[in-house]
Amino acid sequence: MKNIFSDLLAPQGSAYPRQGKKHRGVALKSEPEIAIMRQAGAIAGTVLAEVRELAQPGVTTGELDRYAEARIRELGAVPSFKGYRGFPASLCVSINAEAVHGVPNRRRQLRSGDLLKVDTGAYFQGYHGDSCITIAVGQISAKAKRLMEAAEAALYRGIEQVKPGNRLMDIAGAIEDYVKPLGYSIVQDFTGHGVGRDLHEDPHVFNVRTRDLPNVQLKAGMTLAIEPIVNAGSRFTRTLKDRWTVVTLDNALSAQFEHTVLVTPTGYDILTYPDPARLRTPEKIKRLGLKT
Ligand code: MG
Ligand code: MG
Repeated sequence: MKNIFSDLLAPQGSAYPRQGKKHRGVALKSEPEIAIMRQAGAIAGTVLAEVRELAQPGVTTGELDRYAEARIRELGAVPSFKGYRGFPASLCVSINAEAVHGVPNRRRQLRSGDLLKVDTGAYFQGYHGDSCITIAVGQISAKAKRLMEAAEAALYRGIEQVKPGNRLMDIAGAIEDYVKPLGYSIVQDFTGHGVGRDLHEDPHVFNVRTRDLPNVQLKAGMTLAIEPIVNAGSRFTRTLKDRWTVVTLDNALSAQFEHTVLVTPTGYDILTYPDPARLRTPEKIKRLGLKT
């Protein structure tokens, strides 16, 4: 039986737009694309969780990178970062005052007390997942721990604002209002971004209120990499002579967390959590060591 309400009451098919739709230049992902992005995101999240186990004093950042690349490939993806604008590795590893884009090095050993940021991307069936965590290597200072926890909390404050109808400024405002009263600063030289077919897509996902970037309204199907960088001191940064590593201008500590987040019809879904089915146990990671 069909009445005039049938079409309203019946499921309307997908809650996401068809493939190829955009809103103000921002790609909206269809349901099949989202399914692939979940895979890409889970691979990135899984690899980061395993790198966290491996990041012990004495291990080099080059070893972590080698492990991550092999593991990303084993999970069926390709490292998003390797070769991206000439970047030489699969991970960005940034230690202490290095804020972002640090290059893995075969001779650089981690030391107890290091605040290590590890960022990676996995490219799976044409789509990217992008995520970053901060890792406490060995025993870190109480100051470093507080900063690390603030950076993670800031990310989640931002993520909680993700729902259709809200705008990018709601994300930025929540992050800014959380971080500033703690006495920390937020890097403005780098922002988050849309992510999908390209590692970096529109829009810029800024982390403090600004009039300089489009304040796009969020729509179901947008996939955003939210990634505030929180500094213990000045917000200003400079790039080292290697042309990649970005450090804080005052040499103070920096921390960052990032997730790839889907705008759902009612809110958000984080795509870059580790996949429990594929995540190696700490015992297995210990047993295999840096081999994959
Ligand atoms: Mg990233
Ligand atoms: Mg990113």
